[in-house]
Amino acid sequence: CYILGIESSCDDTAAAVINNGVVLSNVVATQKIHEEYGGVVPELASRAHQQNIVPVVHQALRKANIDKKQLNAIAFTRGPGLMGSLLVGTSFSKSLAMGLGIPLIDVNHMQAHILAHFIKAEGQSEPNFPFLALTISGGHTQIVKVTGYFEMEVIGETIDDAVGEAFDKSAKILGLPYPGGPLIDKYAQQGDPKRFKFTKPKVSPLDFSFSGLKTAVLYFVEREVQKNPNFISENIVDICASLQFTIVDYLMDKLKNAVKQTGIKEIAMGGGVSANSGIRTALGAAEKRYGWKTHIPKFEFCTDNAAMIAMVGELKFKHQIFAESNVAAQARMKL
Ligand code: ATP
Ligand code: FE
Repeated sequence: CYILGIESSCDDTAAAVINNGVVLSNVVATQKIHEEYGGVVPELASRAHQQNIVPVVHQALRKANIDKKQLNAIAFTRGPGLMGSLLVGTSFSKSLAMGLGIPLIDVNHMQAHILAHFIKAEGQSEPNFPFLALTISGGHTQIVKVTGYFEMEVIGETIDDAVGEAFDKSAKILGLPYPGGPLIDKYAQQGDPKRFKFTKPKVSPLDFSFSGLKTAVLYFVEREVQKNPNFISENIVDICASLQFTIVDYLMDKLKNAVKQTGIKEIAMGGGVSANSGIRTALGAAEKRYGWKTHIPKFEFCTDNAAMIAMVGELKFKHQIFAESNVAAQARMKL
């Protein structure tokens, strides 16, 4: 069956068509407007979604080479996310489903990041239940125990900033453009990870905290720049390598705690930060050292995308789980 997925929770307008787990099209319009503000501006995001949504859906259908009349259902992101952004996708999806007379399926964005692993694509593998999902992005940092497609329990999460924010805010302090995560990663690969020491924040074994790290980076940089105004430019690769080493080590500590506590050794990583070379290498090493089985989706299914929304739509469609006709967007939404 053909399912159209629509994603508009943050600053990417996305649409995708899936057919039996195979992605026929996966279109994303990334909003450039936020770059000059160094972060997502909600008002600008919802306006851009309004401009993008029709062309993005058209393009998804055209690339999938199907007509909208062939669609069996429409799946959309109900939450969590920015209210104004979610409203655009929700109202559009409702109207389109009503107009076509097909079922509407509401999708939890965080569940979708996890179920993206079930997309059938070359280079990615399906996890077996039960598994632990590590979802790391610009808005979230969670460890989830997954026992079934729709049975998920958050066993650890950040108490303040998300890990992607830790990358982006540190990058901003270092004078790097937004989003800084990929740049820190690039520099880190040429630097010495042991050169500078950043302490890992202490919270309960499965939870995360990143706001202290950003402050630590700020104080460290300010202190060093006072001594040497060129400190950042002269040491950028070592600063990035040390910072990335600390963050990756911290993520791995938490995963090890989760494996110990649950006895589950199968790990599925997702979210934009899973592009990071450090965490990828660390997970690969853990496979060998601890006998874990790890899964990383293709990059296009890691960052915010509609293919994962369509994937959940398909699973729900097969289980006949549909949205109520009065379904509303929800900024905060539990798994
Ligand atoms: P959410 O998925 O929670 O709604 P989001 O839209 O910000 O939030 P993604 O698009 O999944 O999330 O991820 C973007 C984040 O990933 C940014 O914070 C970005 O800096 C970070 N990121 C991307 N590539 C890398 C990398 N190679 N290393 C570190 N961080 C990275
Ligand atoms: Fe996301």
